[in-house]
Amino acid sequence: MTTCEETDCENEAAVELHVPWSDNMLVCTAHARVWAQKDGVVPEPLDEAADDWR
Ligand SMILES: [Zn+2]
Repeated sequence: MTTCEETDCENEAAVELHVPWSDNMLVCTAHARVWAQKDGVVPEPLDEAADDWR
């Protein structure tokens, strides 16, 4: 599995974040919800996680 890219987070990455001011990131759903609050960030669920996200 792919691990969340946030520091000290060992959850499975489930969402790809498109961050206008930085590189794309793979993060877990919990971190994706935080990131999705920021202007311009577009969260895109990975295929196998799409059901959990929606
Ligand atoms: Zn995380």
